[in-house]
Amino acid sequence: MRTTRTNTGILVDELLLAQLKECPVCRGELSGRAEVCPGCGAQLTPYYEQLDEANKSLTEAFNAVTRGEIERARELGSKAQTMTPLVAEQVALLQARIALGERRFSHAWEQAQALPDAVREKPALLHEIISLHEAETIGKQHFNLALTSARRQYYADASYHIERAIELIPYLAPAWRLAVKIELKRGRFDTAQEFLEEGLRRFPNETYLASMALELNPDVP
Ligand SMILES: [Zn+2]
Repeated sequence: MRTTRTNTGILVDELLLAQLKECPVCRGELSGRAEVCPGCGAQLTPYYEQLDEANKSLTEAFNAVTRGEIERARELGSKAQTMTPLVAEQVALLQARIALGERRFSHAWEQAQALPDAVREKPALLHEIISLHEAETIGKQHFNLALTSARRQYYADASYHIERAIELIPYLAPAWRLAVKIELKRGRFDTAQEFLEEGLRRFPNETYLASMALELNPDVP
């Protein structure tokens, strides 16, 4: 079975994708991939083709969420949804994953709870929402401790806490800004430079980081 491990350790596999379990015409149960419904004789090939296309979009959408490409995931999800109503459950699962990718924890939780219990990934998703929310809470605590320590000029402590914060909440720009400020205060220019580069890679439009990059790396001929 083809599987893709996401960065949070959850497996996206083919069982996540929609299948044609009943005939769209007579609702008779289907097994295997019959070209014609054994019950009513309906041609099933067009339905399989739609489903394959929609599943392809969904696979790309789940992979996009994993890479943090939320807008792309949303687009691919809507595309799949317009192709066939057979993917409704998978689209609902995708939307919960998108909310989690955006760290909208309560929204993700509600959407995950609303999924039918038959959705195999539901328990793992609920668990993941809880642990990512906890990680964010602890990350923010470290951020606040770093800030307090820095204000008291305890820069070694500040440095310890901001490193923990960066590990847990790397998706929040203030953590990168504070990390750069603390390392500059300690005179550790190489470390500051590393935080600066990584911070800018994640937040290319961050004005503080951009101006510090200019200040530390002036383009003097
Ligand atoms: Zn049928």
